[in-house]
Amino acid sequence: MREALLGRTREELKELLRARDPKPYRAHQLFEALHRRRIVDLRAATDLPLPLREALAAEYVITDVEVADVFQASDGTRRYLLRLRDGVRIESVWIPEPYADTICLSTQAGCPLACQFCMTARLGLLRNLEAGEIVAQAWLILNDLYGPEAKPKRGLNLVLMGMGEPLLNYENVMKAIRLFCDSRGMNISQRRITLSTAGVVPRIRRLATEPIRPELAISLAATTNALRDQLMPINRRWPLEELLAACRAYPLRRNEWISFEYVMLEGINDGEEDARRLIRLLRGIRAKVNVIPYNPAPELPFASSPESRIARFQQILRAAGIPTFIRRPRGREIAAACGQLAARQREDLAALLTPS
Ligand code: SAH
Repeated sequence: MREALLGRTREELKELLRARDPKPYRAHQLFEALHRRRIVDLRAATDLPLPLREALAAEYVITDVEVADVFQASDGTRRYLLRLRDGVRIESVWIPEPYADTICLSTQAGCPLACQFCMTARLGLLRNLEAGEIVAQAWLILNDLYGPEAKPKRGLNLVLMGMGEPLLNYENVMKAIRLFCDSRGMNISQRRITLSTAGVVPRIRRLATEPIRPELAISLAATTNALRDQLMPINRRWPLEELLAACRAYPLRRNEWISFEYVMLEGINDGEEDARRLIRLLRGIRAKVNVIPYNPAPELPFASSPESRIARFQQILRAAGIPTFIRRPRGREIAAACGQLAARQREDLAALLTPS
C-alpha cells in the first residue's frame, strides 16, 4: 500500500525528495500544496515539475484516511466517521459557531482511560493515531466543507477533545500541532488550539516547556479524591493535589487561562458543596470553568443535572470571581457531543434512536 504524505514535516519531505529533486525549495512547495492548498491529487501540485509529480503519485498517496460516513445534526454540527488504513474507525466533529468554527479532533482510536461517564472509554484503546492521521481529520473536514484550494471563510479553532487522551500520545500530538501551526501550511495560531487532558501530570509539566504549545484544558469532574477516584480512575495515579500543583506551576502566557471542564452528573457532583470545594481547589490558578451538561448514552448509568442546578453551580463560581461558562450540548442527536464518541455507524445510531 502506498504511504501517505500528510503528516510529514518540511524536513521529512526534503529527505523524501532528496534522491528525486534535491532543490531545497521543492519540499516547501510540496508542503504548501498539501497543507495550505489542500490539493487532493498530486498532479495538481503545479509548481512541481510534471515528472516529479508523477513519480510521487506513483509512490505515495496524500492521505490514507477516508471519510466513511457523515452525520449532520439540526444545529449544524457534523460528525465525521473516518476509516484508517488498517480499518480502524475514529470520529471528528465540525461545530459551527457564531464567530468562528471549531473542529474537534481525536488523538487515539478508543481510549485507555476508564472515565465512567464517557462512551469512548467503553472501546478501550485500539491504538495511538499518527501525526498524519490527526492532521488528516482537519484536512478532510475542510476539504469536505470548502473544497480543496479554498480558504476557510471564517475563524477556525481546533480542539483536541475527541476520542482518546492526547497526552498519552504525546509525540504524535505535538508533531500534528506543529504541522497545523506551520506558517507555510494551515498556519493556525497555537492560541487557537486547545488540548484537553484527564490529568497526565508529568506530561503537563513537559507541555509547559514546549516552544509551540496549545492552550490547556483539564477535565476535572470531581472535587474530592474519593469521588474522582471513582469517576476518573486516572486520579488514583495522579490525585487532585498533584494535578492542581502542576496547574499552579504551569507558565501562562499573556491572556492565557487554564480551562477546567466539569461534567455535571445529577446528584453526584452538582451540589453547592461541590461548587464551593471547586473554588478552593482553583485558588491561585488563573482558571476558567466550562460546565458541561452530561450527555447521556443508554449504556451509561448517569443523568443530566436539571438546568436550575447547573445555573446555581455557575452562579456560585461566578460570585467567587471565576469566569464560568455552560457548554451547550452540540450534536447530541447524532451522538456527536462530548463523551458520546464511540465510532457509531448509521446502523448503530438507528438502533439507539429507536425507542425500545
Ligand atoms: N481525554 C481527554 C480528551 C477528551 S475531552 C480529556 O479527558 O480531557 C472530552 C471531554 O468530554 C472531557 O472534558 C470529558 O470530561 C467530557 N465528557 C466525557 N463524557 C461526557 C459526557 N457523557 N457528557 C459530557 N461531557 C463528557
